[in-house]
Amino acid sequence: MMTKKYADATILVHQGRDRDPATGASAIPIYQASTYHHTDGVPGEYDYSRCGNPSRDQVEEAIALLEGGVRGFACASGMAAIGSALSLLKAGDHLIAPEDLYGGSYRYLTQILPTQGIEVTFVNTAELAQIKAALRSNTRGIFLETPSNPLFNITDLRAVAALAREHKLLTFLDNTFMTPLLQHTLDLGIDVAIHSATKFLGGHSDLLAGLVTTADEGLARQLKTFQNSFGAVLGPFDCFLLARGIKTLKLRLEAGQRNAGLLAERLAEHPAVSRVYYPGLADFPGRERHLSQACGAGAVLSFELRDATRVKPLLARVQLPIIAPSLGGVETILTHCWSMSHAAMPADLKTRLGIGPGLLRISAGIEDVEDLWEDLAAGLAAD
Ligand SMILES: *Cc1c(COP(=O)(O)O)cnc(C)c1O
Repeated sequence: MMTKKYADATILVHQGRDRDPATGASAIPIYQASTYHHTDGVPGEYDYSRCGNPSRDQVEEAIALLEGGVRGFACASGMAAIGSALSLLKAGDHLIAPEDLYGGSYRYLTQILPTQGIEVTFVNTAELAQIKAALRSNTRGIFLETPSNPLFNITDLRAVAALAREHKLLTFLDNTFMTPLLQHTLDLGIDVAIHSATKFLGGHSDLLAGLVTTADEGLARQLKTFQNSFGAVLGPFDCFLLARGIKTLKLRLEAGQRNAGLLAERLAEHPAVSRVYYPGLADFPGRERHLSQACGAGAVLSFELRDATRVKPLLARVQLPIIAPSLGGVETILTHCWSMSHAAMPADLKTRLGIGPGLLRISAGIEDVEDLWEDLAAGLAAD
């Protein structure tokens, strides 16, 4: 691992290891091997790939360096990362979670955790009072997502971390939207940082991956035991793709963020749009809180159409964005939250939260922003 503390832009490129120690090759090879020769019957640094693999070590060290953790864990997907992090809870524990969160996480928290004897209470985590009111004697953790997905509610991370310390609770943050570049989870006092690296970290919509890291040695040991026991590790080829994606994160994210800012401003003035959710907008309610804990608004925004019947023609007309449930790619991604990213959430809950059928999410890619706007404006035009 690197010993000097470099700036993020440098860590992204060089990561913990940036060339093959065996040959000097400019990239860590894809160590496509399940096991390792035990010379004279004695294991070397590596003995079996579920326990460790040099291609995986590269991305695990990278996420630890970027978030300030003691060690990182690369998982087969973002959901595997969330499941791994939540393995720190045990039967009888109670978890507090945000009510508007990634649809897959909602499914995991409502359908899987309860079968393992872990109860979950959903609150608006942007309101500290609601978290306090949900505390029970068996509460063991608080799961967070900020900005929330897709409504961009902003949770005060420092305040929740302080409350958690007071009550000896574990805090988890799904930092997928911000990446470690815009929001330093562990510095803000959160115990466990989680990323769907499928999104910005990978950055090219060509792999599924998840990353977890923590600054606590004890938690890291437990996570390592879980990773080795459960085995949902990221394969060597995907580690290579992820390491390659991470190298350009800063350039991609800055370009996407610039485009998102411009699209948000123009959408906010468009007659077909009733509301834009983006912390980069001057009048966005959570803006100040968000910018007190993150150094940018990110490349994702949501907007509500005045007339939900215009979603269909919009999706039929736009040419550039891929219409899909994902984000964080070099290409612009347009998501209909109701039917895609939040399909796993019951309709009445979506309606109560404000995730209506007219809500769309844009993950701004790195294309030319005028081309993007022209395309979007044509899609929004009345017949
Ligand atoms: C995509 C996503 C996940 C799940 O990640 P996968 O890699 O698809 O398993 C979790 N949280 C957020 C915020 C996401 O956007």
